[in-house]
Amino acid sequence: MKTAKKKDSAAGKSRKDQLRSARRIVVKIGTGVLTQSGGKFDRARFESLCDELHRAAQTREVVVVSSGAVALGVERLGLLARPKDIRGKQAAAAVGQSRLMRLYDDVLGPKGVTVAQVLLTHADIQSRTRYLNARRAIAQLIEHRALPIINENDTVSVEELKFGDNDTLAGMAVDLVEAELLIILTDIDGLYTADPRKDPKATRIPEVFGIDPATLGLAGDSSSGVGTGGMATKLRAASRAGESGVPTLIAPGKQVGVLDAALAGEPLGTFVHAPPQPETGSRKRWLLRDLRPTGQLVIDDGADRALCERGKSLLPSGITEVRGTFEAGEPVEILSTDAVAVARGFSSYGSDELRRICGLKTADIVEKLGYKLADEAVHRDDLVLLETLRKRPSKKSKGESA
Ligand code: GLU
Repeated sequence: MKTAKKKDSAAGKSRKDQLRSARRIVVKIGTGVLTQSGGKFDRARFESLCDELHRAAQTREVVVVSSGAVALGVERLGLLARPKDIRGKQAAAAVGQSRLMRLYDDVLGPKGVTVAQVLLTHADIQSRTRYLNARRAIAQLIEHRALPIINENDTVSVEELKFGDNDTLAGMAVDLVEAELLIILTDIDGLYTADPRKDPKATRIPEVFGIDPATLGLAGDSSSGVGTGGMATKLRAASRAGESGVPTLIAPGKQVGVLDAALAGEPLGTFVHAPPQPETGSRKRWLLRDLRPTGQLVIDDGADRALCERGKSLLPSGITEVRGTFEAGEPVEILSTDAVAVARGFSSYGSDELRRICGLKTADIVEKLGYKLADEAVHRDDLVLLETLRKRPSKKSKGESA
């Protein structure tokens, strides 16, 4: 484990710089932050946190991952304790989720912040079509300057489709919303050298450079009992964010003003640096990790150069042939005219649709299909160039079409 004080992270920026400069952030708010001991909803903290979110949203693009549905449902249903069985949690979440959003809207609405509910299951992240749909919808919300508030769709999440806890969901949301920073607000101060409840000599670790089994070992079982995840799930979420090149701050969410202080770069909580990134962004590596292309797109020379030399997206106009059968959102291989695989990416359209629009200009898509899912056949953000590219002789310029 590398926890020693280091001036600069692998990305060449200090912790403070990374906190101050992150443009889009995911703020995860745990159940423990929103409840008092005994599980009662902490209205005062909720309101002050909304103040902080409002202030943050003035200068950053904020996406919230909020727990609290089950806790609010338990309170509203008059249950004595948080249910342990899945049906009980599903029912409590159904009651509490609407209450949770109502509360956010009641407090943030008058401040001029429009809130938007986004409920996800793990299946939404695993299916590329649903993943891309969710990503587009959230991007649109951000464009509208609305505040997306994500939670797991607990009521329909059966065990095998569950994220398990909102730390995991937040770690995955980093990719989904293309965030530059993850802040996990929790009911503990951060990661300690030992369990602070048992060891008076335990000290908080301000910075972690890379998460390995030794770091995870420090997390122990530090769950507060009101939420689902403990420190270990927070570190795993940080590790997941790190794979995308995104750092994570685990910070004391009960502390009033924590978000202001965190974004000002003050030394609180535990900052988990993202590991150094190889040339190909890890977000793309994650997008393509272990995925087998289900189809192939043959492109013309103009599109080839646009992709490989100018970093552009692939437009339908640059496609000369569509091979295989695939749905929108599935991975495809992109082949040059000389049959070299130059890139892989996720197709915005299904194979049948692409066969109808390949070679057409973007402006003609709607006329042909009656609708348009995207301008691009494969968006740049969903595309990764393959190594083989470098070994290819450069081609002579012809007309460019992508
Ligand atoms: N989705 C759950 C809720 O809103 C929280 C899960 C967790 O505690 O991580 O209550």
